[in-house]
Amino acid sequence: MISVTLLKALNEQIQKELYSAYLYLAMSAHFEAASLPGFASWTRMQAQEEQEHALKFYDFINDRGSRVELLAIEKPPQEFGTPLEVFKEILEHEKKVTASIHKLYEIALKEGDYPAQMMLHWFINEQVEEEKNAGQIVDQLQMAEDHKGIVLNIDHHVGKREAE
Ligand code: MG
Repeated sequence: MISVTLLKALNEQIQKELYSAYLYLAMSAHFEAASLPGFASWTRMQAQEEQEHALKFYDFINDRGSRVELLAIEKPPQEFGTPLEVFKEILEHEKKVTASIHKLYEIALKEGDYPAQMMLHWFINEQVEEEKNAGQIVDQLQMAEDHKGIVLNIDHHVGKREAE
């Protein structure tokens, strides 16, 4: 069985992952409205991935014979800025998620919960990727500032992301 403290934190992580999915979907809708289909596609795929992350925690709790508790998901923002501003927001958001995953790992370590530690290794690696991907797009958009044609090229390039 998972300890009460860890279970609470895992259920909160499901909520955070689903909020991430909601946030990325709101960003995708923003890019659709801004006629930037590549960024819309990237953020939509990201939304899908976040739902899968939520389900990994959901399955882990069930597999350990504990009880999933689904918490309320907050409304994401409706308005977003330029692609550069949005991707900066994504990078900041992912850094917060990384901190949250590390916190979970600290609890799992403290409590000697080895299965939780093993499960969290995947997420620790995943967050390295998430920050790297968002950081690269921020850097590229930063280079493209004031050159709108280049932003369209990046939109096209980012839209070529393949499903994982
Ligand atoms: Mg995630």
